[in-house]
Amino acid sequence: TVHGRGIRKSFGSKTVLQNIDLDIASGEICCIIGPSGSGKSTLLRCVNGLETVDLGVLKVNGEHFGYYETDTAFHALSRKRLAEQRTKVGIVFQQFNLFPNMTARDNIMAGPVLVKHGDKQQASEQAQQLLASVGLSGFGGHYPAQLSGGQQQRVAIARALAMDPQIMLFDEPTSALDPEKVGEVLAVMKDLAQKGMTMIVVTHEMGFAREVADTLLFMDEGCIVERGDAREVLAHPKERRTQAFLERVL
Ligand code: ATP
Ligand code: MG
Repeated sequence: TVHGRGIRKSFGSKTVLQNIDLDIASGEICCIIGPSGSGKSTLLRCVNGLETVDLGVLKVNGEHFGYYETDTAFHALSRKRLAEQRTKVGIVFQQFNLFPNMTARDNIMAGPVLVKHGDKQQASEQAQQLLASVGLSGFGGHYPAQLSGGQQQRVAIARALAMDPQIMLFDEPTSALDPEKVGEVLAVMKDLAQKGMTMIVVTHEMGFAREVADTLLFMDEGCIVERGDAREVLAHPKERRTQAFLERVL
């Protein structure tokens, strides 16, 4: 679960997130749409701990993220505790960001072995299962350069899943793909959704949002302008800015 209240984030004098409230239930699939620069990636990066919020409450899985609270004040968590919290939140980016000098299998094993100090043999078996689950059995020995964009992105999803996250974040995971590769990545995400994963997905794929999402958020200028049942918002947007945006993209 994700629970945010009054989240603010600025870069210098530019306020990128203003007063964001966010509630994502366990097993919920939430899609975020909105124009370029509206703060979608920044919000995801806060939920993953890549950015810290300036103000407001952010709880992930019931715990303050990056901070702990005493009777009198908030204190930053140690790097180690933050790293532990961050393992619970997987993230997949538009650019696949695989380690180019490692095979698909080693990319997937890197987190469990290097971050969690897990058993190598066990991590290797898990990698094999994850490769199968994203339709890439037999590709474990391939380097990223030997894989198509769609295959690389599926390895990136498997790599995130190897940390056994409770929440998965996707930041425009299909935007860098050739059109014919989009479907295979969306299929893996849909499968994950059906297995009950909690997911926040920034996307321009309105078909995916309509078909898979429970809730939809429309962001503009650092605010959540409209939110609701995904199919309801797509079919009957209430806010003028949502209407204008959807007219442009649908
Ligand atoms: P897009 O659809 O293009 O990916 P977005 O909705 O994801 O856009 P963000 O990447 O969150 O938007 O950026 C929101 C605003 O914050 C933009 O104006 C961007 O220039 C600014 N911004 C993002 N990261 C930084 C940073 N590290 N330093 C300064 N400004 C930043
Ligand atoms: Mg972005």
